[in-house]
Amino acid sequence: MTDSHTRTVVIKVGGGEGIDLGAFADQFAALVRSGVRAVLVHGGSHETNVLSEKLGHPPRTITSPSGHTSRRTDRATLEIFEMVYCGKVNKGIVEQLRAKGVDAIGLSGIDGGLWTGERKTAIRAVEDGATVIIRDDLSGRVTSVDASLLDLLLGAGRTPVLTPPAVTADGVAINVDADRAAALTAVALRADELLLLSNVPGVLRDPADRSSLIASTAEVGLDAVREAAKGRMKNKVLAAEEATEGGVARVVIGCANGPTALADALAGRGTLFEGVRA
Ligand code: ADP
Repeated sequence: MTDSHTRTVVIKVGGGEGIDLGAFADQFAALVRSGVRAVLVHGGSHETNVLSEKLGHPPRTITSPSGHTSRRTDRATLEIFEMVYCGKVNKGIVEQLRAKGVDAIGLSGIDGGLWTGERKTAIRAVEDGATVIIRDDLSGRVTSVDASLLDLLLGAGRTPVLTPPAVTADGVAINVDADRAAALTAVALRADELLLLSNVPGVLRDPADRSSLIASTAEVGLDAVREAAKGRMKNKVLAAEEATEGGVARVVIGCANGPTALADALAGRGTLFEGVRA
């Protein structure tokens, strides 16, 4: 473990309904002022749904044969996604952090090829009970992170605020999961910790019961955590596993809301995944 001055933490804060990004920015700014090298990754799913409705292009979901769901991303959806993620949400967070004295710089995964990935060229989906193949979706996953760009910024005292989309090697913007992008970013930066914060206390045994928190993978075993995670929580558990397998010693899936949310997550409150650095 490095000392607190060189500790590197990647924090992903969700874009779900009910997350108070203003209150969170206060806590994040205090962490940066304490000398921690921190990278913030954010989502924007709820706002994207709201704007999509307003623009007459309502959100659509792809359901895989195994029941996994993701956003159907045609070109119009990608453009709305960029308006929200790279525009309103990213610039809003950068503005709030700068007002609190943090030298924040907002970047999408497209900028400088920061997050390079692969587009899914054929997605199996279930529509009206039948399995179909979707070939024109602009979604994919991050396969490489330009850590040198982030190191350059962090070394200059700047705080990166990162958001999807990512970009393919041949320059096509793709919608990617921000939790998994944050995990890969933490691995690439050899971060000490990854925090995946959203509007729930962590992985719950029963998603409808906020008091049924699984406090750590050690408590119940990884299989039970995977089993409990439904819907979009599945991606967070996958991201947590990818980070620990990639050498991040500590991952917490926790809550972004409340005056002590960040301190709580840094103290391991939420669902704690502990890895072993190679
Ligand atoms: P964000 O947009 O903040 O990244 P998501 O909405 O994608 O967060 O993921 C969190 C959501 O996952 C919760 O709001 C909840 O509806 C859902 N979920 C499914 N299974 C679980 C579970 N076992 N524990 C907690 N949340 C769960």
